Amino acid sequence: MTTPGITAGTTLGRELTLGILGGGQLAQMLALAAIPLGVRVTVLEPDAHAPARLCARHLHAPYTDPAGLDELAACDAVTLEFENIPVEALAALEGRVPVRPAGSLLARSKHRAREKQALREAGATTAPFEIIEAGGDLDGALARVGGRGILKTSELGYDGKGQARVNTDAELRAAWADLNRVPCVLEGFVPFEREVSLAVARTPSGQVAFGPLVENVHRNGILRTSVYPAHVPDGTGARARELARAVADAWALEGLITLEFFVLPGGDLLVNEVAPRVHNSGHLTQDGGGLSQFEAQVRAVLDLPLSDWAPLHPTAMLNVVGVDGPDGQPLEPDWAAIDALGAARVHLYHKAHRHGRKVGHVNLVAPDTDTLRARLASLEPLVP
Ligand code: AMP
Repeated sequence: MTTPGITAGTTLGRELTLGILGGGQLAQMLALAAIPLGVRVTVLEPDAHAPARLCARHLHAPYTDPAGLDELAACDAVTLEFENIPVEALAALEGRVPVRPAGSLLARSKHRAREKQALREAGATTAPFEIIEAGGDLDGALARVGGRGILKTSELGYDGKGQARVNTDAELRAAWADLNRVPCVLEGFVPFEREVSLAVARTPSGQVAFGPLVENVHRNGILRTSVYPAHVPDGTGARARELARAVADAWALEGLITLEFFVLPGGDLLVNEVAPRVHNSGHLTQDGGGLSQFEAQVRAVLDLPLSDWAPLHPTAMLNVVGVDGPDGQPLEPDWAAIDALGAARVHLYHKAHRHGRKVGHVNLVAPDTDTLRARLASLEPLVP
């Protein structure tokens, strides 16, 4: 079978297959982007209710399941939707199927201390940091990062979990004890002006392409809104692309990564962290009229032609996160009012409610940035 619309790539003339480690909402949206390209998707995911089961073949098994990994190894390429894949799973796939991004890149991006060191080696600036692995590492660490900091677990932190702000040595010691004295990174507190993110993709053939520079606002450690274009000084976008390319080159990227940055007063950028995949801040690319980040990752991983992707119009995203009301019952967004806005596109992940859990997002498009900001201001009160 041929794949209509695809004009290059190494496997023209037959249907392409993509394996995904993980079956959450990112895998769901990757699969939704893959289908029109003639790509069939198989996900390996232990959760029976995984969002991706609705639009991909679901191998309902642990990530280390030998039969499941054999099925992924039979795909044209394997990618992932979250970084904490057991090393045994990656080792079982090695040499049998291209895994993009590769295990060596994942090993960096899922470990904050290694990631920060690798970012610096790539020429990117980060917040000052100290590695905390033993009690003695705490001595003088806070002073060395500037007197105020954020202690973060080196592994398994997400959406602000596994983090504590600390302003004194006593708070630092208490915070490390609260985190069960696991290996951590103590970062200096960055007085940033805003937060932005940018994705870069590279195909195995060496084509490099960039996503849009997006401005992000967090609430309780969880992304609340993303807006394109970001409100940043001239030159910030070009600098972000330069840094993203440097990291992609130094880390020998095949696939897609997303860099989160702090914008300092004056416009300088510090890299906060790198996700080895599509990112929540890129969801707005689904409805802005251009290529989406999901299609970009599919194309990069399968070595299909790729160009820069960015919305053609000003676009924003608001996350829908489970919120319990005072009586313990879920607070629902005002869906009727959201629909009545007209310009809103709703994306639901088919996940059960849990306080603090991302269950969907709403994208908004507008002809100009003022209209976009006004529409976002109308949308925000409708989503708890
Ligand atoms: P992270 O999990 O590293 O993305 O952190 C979650 C959020 O906490 C970031 O998006 C920032 O809003 C804030 N944050 C993280 N690190 C720092 C820092 N070093 N200084 C100031 N704010 C930070």
